Amino acid sequence: MFAHRMEQVRAAMADRGLDVLLLSVGPDLPWLIGYEAMPLERLTMLVLPVDGQATLVVPALEAPRVVERGDLFTLAPFGEADDPVRMVATMVGGGSTRVRLAVGDRTWARFVVDLQSALPGASWHRASTVTGPLRAVKDSAEIEALRRAGAAADRVIGALQAGEVALIGRTEAEVAADLGSRLIAEGHAHVNFTIVAAGENAASPHHEPGSRVIRPDEVVLCDIGGTMLSEDGVGYCSDITRCVATGAVESEISTAYDALRSAQADAVAAARVGTSAGGVDAVARARLTEAGFGERFIHRTGHGIGVEEHEDPYLVRGNEELLVAGHAFSVEPGIYTPGRWGLRLEDIVVATANGPDLLNLVGRELMVVES
Ligand code: ZN
Ligand code: ZN
Ligand code: ZN
Repeated sequence: MFAHRMEQVRAAMADRGLDVLLLSVGPDLPWLIGYEAMPLERLTMLVLPVDGQATLVVPALEAPRVVERGDLFTLAPFGEADDPVRMVATMVGGGSTRVRLAVGDRTWARFVVDLQSALPGASWHRASTVTGPLRAVKDSAEIEALRRAGAAADRVIGALQAGEVALIGRTEAEVAADLGSRLIAEGHAHVNFTIVAAGENAASPHHEPGSRVIRPDEVVLCDIGGTMLSEDGVGYCSDITRCVATGAVESEISTAYDALRSAQADAVAAARVGTSAGGVDAVARARLTEAGFGERFIHRTGHGIGVEEHEDPYLVRGNEELLVAGHAFSVEPGIYTPGRWGLRLEDIVVATANGPDLLNLVGRELMVVES
């Protein structure tokens, strides 16, 4: 699998006339070789020439964590007094070589800046031009890893909807911590976020859960996600949003929720191979506009998901990219009324030859949870 990805990456580099790919911290590296660099002040960098052997430059103290894959790369550990930037510069030709380099989008600026001074003749490009389109199209093992993560997140939401997660009288932060530990208990390796937004706080889509105490008769928006390891040890993400009501809610909110639910269902149904990513956004937006909520749907409809929570393809107005089988993404329209309430409904979907494949199956109704 990793060998196949490396072949695909090299072919894409050749297409774009790139000589060397440089990957450091961030999701490209684990996706490509199964090793995730520690986000440290010490440099970790895979030096992958379009032809020839790849080398993983790694701090000597991190080397024991690397699963050696001689078929994929050779290991070049460096000591505390060595200069890893110079090592990388030498590997790509050194000095004024006119090499075309693609560097990982998340690489610390301190290393990019130092590499740029060490390689004044090089031209610099973003690695995501190579890795983004490849990572966006999931193979069957990746889809199964996403499905397992989705099922685990579904079980946490199922417990929430069943009233097993106490809400009334607790703070958003307490409920967020509870949902996070449930994500771990259900098999996630780590929690990426747990948004718990009560009442008026739900009008802020990425609200940070705080000391606000949850009261009866309001809506609580919960948007949770974590990373679950696949059999190859690579992490794949979950991401789901459900709203629950702690009692009776105003008819305005139920009306809005019904509109949201049907807009989300229509957008999911539209997420077919051959539809553009922006076209799916247009469906959700048109439905909410018809229902009178268009102005209050203030973000894009969705984002790709994989080793990263947000990646290509983005379901946003203007994205003409056509969906292909294996694209995995969220469909998450929302309606936000500042100062009063907010609603969002989010599922992960995979585009397949047989239509959209939903990875989240837990109920989508606005459940009343009086606990
Ligand atoms: Zn978000
Ligand atoms: Zn989400
Ligand atoms: Zn999302």
